[in-house]
Amino acid sequence: MRIGIVGGGQLARMLALAGIPLGIRFSVYDPAPDACAGVVADLIQGDFDDLGALKAFARQCDLVTFDFENVSAPGLVELASRCPVFPPPLALSTSQDRLKEKALFAMLGVPVAPHCAVPGEVPGDFRFPAILKTTRFGYDGKGQVTVATRQVLTQAHAALHEAACVLESKVPFDRELSIIAVRGTDGEVRCYPLTENVHAGGVLAVSIAPARVSAAQQRHAEAIAHRLADALEYVGVFAIEFFDVDGQLVANEMAPRVHNSGHWTIEGAVTSQFQNHIRAIAGLPLGDCAALGYSCMLNWVGSLPDRSAALRTPGAHWHDYGKQARSGRKVGHVTLTHQSCRALLEILEARSTTGLAGPPVELAKGLLHNYLQR
Ligand code: AMP
Repeated sequence: MRIGIVGGGQLARMLALAGIPLGIRFSVYDPAPDACAGVVADLIQGDFDDLGALKAFARQCDLVTFDFENVSAPGLVELASRCPVFPPPLALSTSQDRLKEKALFAMLGVPVAPHCAVPGEVPGDFRFPAILKTTRFGYDGKGQVTVATRQVLTQAHAALHEAACVLESKVPFDRELSIIAVRGTDGEVRCYPLTENVHAGGVLAVSIAPARVSAAQQRHAEAIAHRLADALEYVGVFAIEFFDVDGQLVANEMAPRVHNSGHWTIEGAVTSQFQNHIRAIAGLPLGDCAALGYSCMLNWVGSLPDRSAALRTPGAHWHDYGKQARSGRKVGHVTLTHQSCRALLEILEARSTTGLAGPPVELAKGLLHNYLQR
């Protein structure tokens, strides 16, 4: 079997690395000649809006998946008439439009932040401060601005080039959580334990799993994931990001793909999110999503820390995506695994032995402190 992945970034690379032991080969389609998945898959270069080239790519594959959201949904629909495309293009087109996504959450009874379309009528009782987000093509905090008061809304909209937007009240959350789930071709759904996340500048910095949540909160997140997956007739892995407000889950958004907050599953779960995605779309039995212990994932944005320092750190697993260092770019991650959460904190605090340093290390220590106090 050969699986084609539209997009050849680190997610495609980790998908191929997880799928190769299953006896599956991979081709990736990406405009960049040095796309980082190219070292583990056949790289076909082409623009994402070149439908002819995408069709030729699909002809070489038994099925097609994608590693990022901004693929043309109509293009994927066209491909789906020739070869199986998973997740279904409907999931992609829903998640590409924040208003459609919120409407689906609301239809499924999933709480979301108060919101309205801009341009459009902003209700008199709408609560500020708020965040104005472009409905499309926003990710990692891009395409969004904070709007302190109603008076500066016009100015904020101008800053986003007056694109179609959604205005969301700022949610006073206690923390951010996400759930990674997988649905097979037979409709079976499995969920990983909730993950606790910290963002810096809108980009994920640190994840800890399993999150310290009640059994009821885990059940609620799983019920939401089931409802969403069934509604979209989903096949593959997806993520839902939540705000935790006084123990209540408020959905922020879904990602129809493997997700950065699930990278810990490579070493921290019985089956990684990457292998489960491949198993699901290839029609293979799904793997166990249970955590093996505690994991703390540190994201490296812009540049990598010292590799030797990371490798000397007990329980650390190093992932260099093989990408050129560049400001704002995700270039790698480290996952620390241990049987106890306290040990994870002690390892990060023992600077003299680890030498592992950088902004995510400081954020992780804060998160682990809170975690242990909760
Ligand atoms: P998003 O692009 O929607 O995932 O937003 C990126 C990050 O911005 C989130 O992970 C939050 O940290 C923050 N954020 C987004 N929307 C809201 C909101 N309505 N209230 C508070 N924080 C938000």
